[in-house]
This record gives sequence, structure tokens and C-alpha cells, in this order.
Amino acid sequence: MLVSAEDMLKKAKAGHYAVGQFNINNLEWTKAILMTAQELNSPVILGVSEGAGKYMTGYKTVVGMVNGMLEEMNITVPVALHLDHGSYDGCLKCIEAGFSSIMFDGSHYPIDENVAKTTELVKIAKEKGLSIEAEVGAIGGEEDGVIGKGECADPKECKAIADLGVTMLAAGIGNIHGKYPDNWEGLSFETLEAIQQLTGEMPLVLHGGTGIPADMIKKAITLGVAKINVNTECQLSFAEATRKYIEDGKDLQGKGFDPRKLLAPGFEAIKATVKEKMELFGSVGKA
Ligand SMILES: [Zn+2]
Repeated sequence: MLVSAEDMLKKAKAGHYAVGQFNINNLEWTKAILMTAQELNSPVILGVSEGAGKYMTGYKTVVGMVNGMLEEMNITVPVALHLDHGSYDGCLKCIEAGFSSIMFDGSHYPIDENVAKTTELVKIAKEKGLSIEAEVGAIGGEEDGVIGKGECADPKECKAIADLGVTMLAAGIGNIHGKYPDNWEGLSFETLEAIQQLTGEMPLVLHGGTGIPADMIKKAITLGVAKINVNTECQLSFAEATRKYIEDGKDLQGKGFDPRKLLAPGFEAIKATVKEKMELFGSVGKA
């Protein structure tokens, strides 16, 4: 059964480790992440962007697939199904479809509007027993023309949003979605420390986990980060393994064209990436 992310993140924050959010795109992704979490006895959060939700034909399909896998794969570790960077309407749709966690990304609104919309969604999420993530200080990406440095959130605005009763808080601390440019200046631990001082027990979320050096990840965890989002890295390892399979001509040998064979190396590559991240985040054995 899907669970809210609240308990797993409270435990993570108190235990000084982080739970990975791994974004899913299809059946192979979901199966690889759930299997790895179960093998490593780690809690896990499955992230679904609005785009990926559409790609999988809609949120109900996603909920049906994930719930089916939890039962048929005998998954016993805590699993949350979480909307990533949701709009206000997207949040309502996911709540209705059966997600166990939502993120409302109001970071592009003026702070007053972000507060108003977050407040409404906190109320609905609480009534349904779901966890809710909010964001302060937009987290950009290279594709948005952000080069060198990601945005840093205002710690006072973080405190204002945290006080609305959200479960976890994402704040820009110089992190970026996607691949980091060569001239990236690194995470702003000064900002993170200031946010943590003001928000106390609140589990903090680090977006854009792909390509942040291991020592920076570990330091961020010591400063209150309890959830780390990984998306691009699984895509890169899947693509690399699939490319190798085809470049080696394996799809042309025997029944190598069978999708269950063709997608197997990419599937294994996602598993390896998820394992590596769970070990780095310290969530192994914490289910
Ligand atoms: Zn993000």
C-alpha cells in the first residue's frame, strides 16, 4: 500500500540520511526502482512529473500500475507516489487519482500567491493524509538559460511557507535540474544553513540530484536535507546501456529485438544507479 512520505522523511531527518525520489517514466523505470528499494530494504519515493503523467496516459494509469506492482512484487518497504513540480490543478487531479504525496510548485508566483495556494492545498492534503512539498526560490535548469549558478531562496520566505504546515520544503540553494554546466559554482551551504536554522525540524528537499558531487550531497544531508530528487541520472544510464546494446548489434542477434531483451540492459542500468544513490544517501536498511 502506498504511504505518505511524512514518516519516512521525519525518520530520515532525525537519523541524518536522505530518502531518494526517483522519477518514473514507464513500467521498466517503476519496476527497477521498486525492486532495488526492496532488495536494499530502503524507503523510496516515486516521482511523477506532469509531463511523465501525461506520457503514461494519465495519473490513474500511474496509480494502477504502481499499486499493482506493490502487490504482485510483494513490496514491503515504504513507498510514496509523489507528484513532482505540480500545478494547483495537477495537485487536485493526483489527489483524486490516488497519489500519496504531492508537490505544489508555486515558486514562480509572487510569495503572497504561493502562500495562498499552498495554504489551500495543505488543508486538502492533510484531510486525505497525504504529504505535501512546497518550493521557494525557483530551481532552474540549463535549458532555462541558467548558467553557472542556480537561484538561492530567501530563508525568511522558506520559514513563511514551512509554517503553513507543509510536510517538506524544497528551496533553491544553487542547485539546477538536469546536467550541471562546467562552470557551476556548487551548492550554497550558507543558504542551506540559514534555511535549516529557521525551519528547524522540517525535512528539506534537494532537487537536481544528478551530478552533484558526493561530498556536497553528504554535507547537504548533515545540514537538514532529507529528500533528494534524482531524474536525469537514471535517464542517462538507461540511454547509455541501450545505446551499447544496439551498437554492439545485439538486437540483430537471435531474438535480440524482443523488447524484453532490448530494454533489459537499460533496466539493469537504472537499478545500478538507484542502488548507488541509495547507498550515498544512507537510506539502505532504513525501511
Ligand atoms: Zn525539481
